[in-house]
Amino acid sequence: MDHFVVSARKYRPVTFDSVVGQSHITTTLKNAIRTNHLAQAFLFCGPRGVGKTTCARILAKTINCQNLGDDAEACGECESCVSFQNNASFNIHELDAASNNSVEDIRNLIDQVRYPPQTGKYKIYIIDEVHMLSQAAFNAFLKTLEEPPSYAIFILATTEKHKILPTILSRCQIFDFNRIQSKDIAHHLADIAQKEGIHAEHEALELIGQKADGGLRDALSMFDLNVTFSTNNHLTYAAVLENLHILDYDYYFKITDALTAGSIARSLVLFDEILRKGFDGHLFVIGLLEHFRNLLVCKDPSTVTLLQVSESAERKYLEQSLMADLSFLLSALSITGQCDINYKSAKNQRLHVEICLMKLANLPQVLQLHSLAAVDETAKKKVEPQQSLNHTATPPLATAPQPAAPANGQSNGNAYANAPAQPATASQQASPQQSAALQQAAPSRLKSTVSLTQSLTPPVQQPAKQSNAEPSADYATVPNGAKREELTLANLQRFWYEFSQKRLQAGNSTTEQITLNREIQLNGTTIEIALDNDHQQDAVMNMRYELLGFLKSRLDAPKLDINPRVAPQEVNRLPYTPAEKFNFMAEKNPYLLELKQALGLDVDF
Ligand SMILES: [Zn+2]
Repeated sequence: MDHFVVSARKYRPVTFDSVVGQSHITTTLKNAIRTNHLAQAFLFCGPRGVGKTTCARILAKTINCQNLGDDAEACGECESCVSFQNNASFNIHELDAASNNSVEDIRNLIDQVRYPPQTGKYKIYIIDEVHMLSQAAFNAFLKTLEEPPSYAIFILATTEKHKILPTILSRCQIFDFNRIQSKDIAHHLADIAQKEGIHAEHEALELIGQKADGGLRDALSMFDLNVTFSTNNHLTYAAVLENLHILDYDYYFKITDALTAGSIARSLVLFDEILRKGFDGHLFVIGLLEHFRNLLVCKDPSTVTLLQVSESAERKYLEQSLMADLSFLLSALSITGQCDINYKSAKNQRLHVEICLMKLANLPQVLQLHSLAAVDETAKKKVEPQQSLNHTATPPLATAPQPAAPANGQSNGNAYANAPAQPATASQQASPQQSAALQQAAPSRLKSTVSLTQSLTPPVQQPAKQSNAEPSADYATVPNGAKREELTLANLQRFWYEFSQKRLQAGNSTTEQITLNREIQLNGTTIEIALDNDHQQDAVMNMRYELLGFLKSRLDAPKLDINPRVAPQEVNRLPYTPAEKFNFMAEKNPYLLELKQALGLDVDF
C-alpha cells in the first residue's frame, strides 16, 4: 500500500504562479526579485491556510536559485532548488513562535544569523505566528531586525496583525493575504481531482470551498476526508453534504417559498425536519439570515457580485429574489436578526425559532395590508377583490356576514391566523350594508388584519354586546366609507391614545405600554418619539406596522411614518467624592475657591 500524502502537502505550490488567489502578492514579490529591490524583513498577514508559509518558502527558494529565469521563478533543477525541494537546505530556518516563544529560542535564532550562508546568496528566517513571541523575545529580536546582515532575510507570518508591536511593523514590508474566493478554491480542487483521477461533481467542490471560508489548507483537508469516504473515487454533492454535516441550501429556498406564501404550517414542518436531521437551531437561523441577505443582494445588478455561491445556486437565488419583494426581505432580516441575537438567552430555543418563523410567515399579510392602505387612498370607493394578493391557503375567517357567529369560534386548524377579536368601534361608524359588502368583496383584507404580535398572544375575552355586531372587525380595516380625520397633533394624540388603550386591553408588555405612554411630536408626516433605550425602540419597531396601519385608517395621512429615537435622559448625578463635593460647593459659592487658594488648602481625598 502506498504511503498516503495529504493533498495540502502533495500539492503545495512550488512556484509563485501556482499560488492560488494571492496574485497581488506574488506579482509584487516577483517584481522585487527581478529589480533586486528586496526588503530584508517581510510581514505576511492573513487568515490561516491561505498560503503565507508557502509564499515564504517559495521566496526563499527563488532568491537562492542559481539559474533564475526571466519570469523570476526558480528553475527547480539547480543544486539549491533541489535541496530546497528535499527540505535539505541549510539556508532556510523556520521557527514556530506558537511553541517556541521564549527569549532562549529567539537567541538561538539570532546566533545563527551571524554566520553567512555556505552555499547560495541568502539565509531566510521564517517566524510563524510571530504574534505569540513573548515581550522579552520581541525585544531581543528587535535589534537584529533593525540591522540585519546583508544576506539575512526575515519573513514574519501572523494571523493577528493587530497584536504585532508598532516597532516591528515599521521595520517590515507588510503583505496582506486575502481570504481565497470559494470559486478559486473549487477550481483548484477540480485540478487536483483531475490529477488524482477522482470524479467530482462541481457543486460538491463549491460546497467544500464555501465551508472552508477562504482557507485553502482547510479545503484540501476536507477534500481528502471526502475522498476517503467516497465510493469508487466519486465525489457527489449529497455525500459531501452528509460528510461535512452541512445543511443543504435547498432547505432555505423551500422555507423562503413557504414564508413568502404565508404558510406557517409548511415552514414549521420544514424546521422540524431540519432539527430531526441533527442540525443546530442557531446555525439554521444564521443560515436563514445569510439566505435573506443573498436574496437582497440579488435585487440590484451591482450587488449580485457579492453573492459567493456556485453558478447553479446563483440562478436559484436570482429566481427567488424575484418572488420576494424588498420590504419583505428587509423586515425578514430584521426579525431573523433579532431571533439570532436573542437565541442564546431564550429558555425554549426551539419555540424561539418557531415564533420567528411565524412572524416571518405573517409578514406578507402585514405588508399587503400596508400597500392596501395606500391603494385605498387612491381608489376610495372602488372595492375590488384582490385575488392575486391572497396568498394563503387557509380559509378566510368570515366570507359572509354571520351575525350569530362568535369571532373566536372558527379557529379549527387555523389557530395561528386567528386574531383575538377587537372591539368593533371602527365598523360601527359605517353603515351595516357597507361593511357587509366590504367583507364579501374583499375577504382577504379581513384576514390580513392579523398583526405580528397579536397572533401570538392569547385571545382576550370579548365584550358580549360586540360579538354579535361583526364577526371579526379589526381596527386596521376601517371601512372605506368612514371619513378620515385631518392630520394634526391633537388628532394624532387622540388616536395614539386609542391605540394604546387597545393594546393595553390585549395584554401587551410593560415596555410596549411605556413606549406608548411617551410624549409624541409631529414633524411633517413623521411621528417623532424619544425613547430611553434600545428595548423600547425594538418595541416600537415591532408594532410599527400595526400602529401605522391603525393611524392611517383614522387619519388622512398615507405617508405617515414613525421615527423612534433613543435619547437617554440626563440623570443628575449627586456629588460623591470629596473633590466633587468641593467643586459642587465652590460652584454655589465662589468665595470658597478663593479661601482655598488663600490658605493653600487641599481637598482631603
Ligand atoms: Zn534553481
